[in-house]
Amino acid sequence: MTAVRARVGVWKQLVGQEPAVESLASAAEAAARIVEGDPVAPGAMTHAWLLTGPPGSGRSVAARTFAAALECMLGMGCGECPGCRTSLAGTHADVRLVVPEGLSISVAEMRALVQAAARRPTGGRWQVVIIEDADRLTEGAANALLKAVEEPPARTVFLLCAPSDHPEDVSVTIRSRCRLVNLRTPPPAAIAQVLAERDGVPVDMAEWAASVCGGHIGRARRLATDENARKRRAAVLRIPLGLRSPADVFACADELINAAEADAGEESKVRDESERSELRTAMGGDGTGKGVAAAKRSAEAAVKQLERRQKSRATRTHRDTLDLALVDLAGFYRDVMVAASGSGAALTHPDQACDIDSAAAHWSPESTLRRLEAVLACREAILWNVKPRIAVEAMVTTLRQG
Ligand SMILES: [Zn+2]
Repeated sequence: MTAVRARVGVWKQLVGQEPAVESLASAAEAAARIVEGDPVAPGAMTHAWLLTGPPGSGRSVAARTFAAALECMLGMGCGECPGCRTSLAGTHADVRLVVPEGLSISVAEMRALVQAAARRPTGGRWQVVIIEDADRLTEGAANALLKAVEEPPARTVFLLCAPSDHPEDVSVTIRSRCRLVNLRTPPPAAIAQVLAERDGVPVDMAEWAASVCGGHIGRARRLATDENARKRRAAVLRIPLGLRSPADVFACADELINAAEADAGEESKVRDESERSELRTAMGGDGTGKGVAAAKRSAEAAVKQLERRQKSRATRTHRDTLDLALVDLAGFYRDVMVAASGSGAALTHPDQACDIDSAAAHWSPESTLRRLEAVLACREAILWNVKPRIAVEAMVTTLRQG
């Protein structure tokens, strides 16, 4: 049954996640029986779920897929009916998706959401609230959410996504109200298959991208389809063996920071501009007469607020992009340690095996470890709001010296 479920309808999007599919699909079947008025409430369904897994394992895809199965008119996640299709596309009236765009979700946003989720489902099935990055909830927002999760309306389901169920990510009280579904890092073969079959990527490219993406499907797709992403990865992986003179330190730090900025900038620019024009349309054009001055003032305030949110989101996108580069870099040093140990464990960057072997032959294990620690310390520093340039320059200095 497990293997069959994972291959049909909406579930086939959950690449390499058979155990998670098993519990979510049984819950969706139980949920359908509840909707049909089955008097025996089946235990496979519950009101609050916590979907955890490493970055790229597809937490938000899993949440959307489960939402589709709950809204499915056939009650099984057929993938074809309007309920499934609109849920997956993010346009179903009863499925609310919260993506914290700044560094956290505000209390006001969460209250509004909890209120909306308490209404009866317009489609007659379930009100679904998906909270991506539940680990970025502020304490106030988490408390507002906790109240709703403790006394859920009869037909409301909360789907929280977070890296883990550790108290640092999700408070113990919220965790205790949720059923846990853990997603795993999908195996490279499963990723290559989905890139080739779903995204039409040539098989060679799909296999390469799957082998170097660290189990991150979105990253694999990006590397397979975006030449600039491939170039940036290559530039990052040239750093370890490219640090010869002291001047290289600043050049490399510059390159890292600028690449992250360019990447994040491209993403933000398109979004910011379309939001500004939407807001202008919503606030109306120029006019004269009574009330215009007041309308103008409130329009200006709205624009200021939007700009603040955009700025906070841009900071986050920039940080996330830089972090991705640092993860690639850490993977290189980890691979050097693997190569030096002769353990034969799989490499993070199998396509860099030549450089990795050469580094393993020249560096002492201690110096490789110091380099790896410098990368991890840099990630940590940026997490603690140290200016990226300062953290990166300190890191690259250690990377050169060893
Ligand atoms: Zn359906």
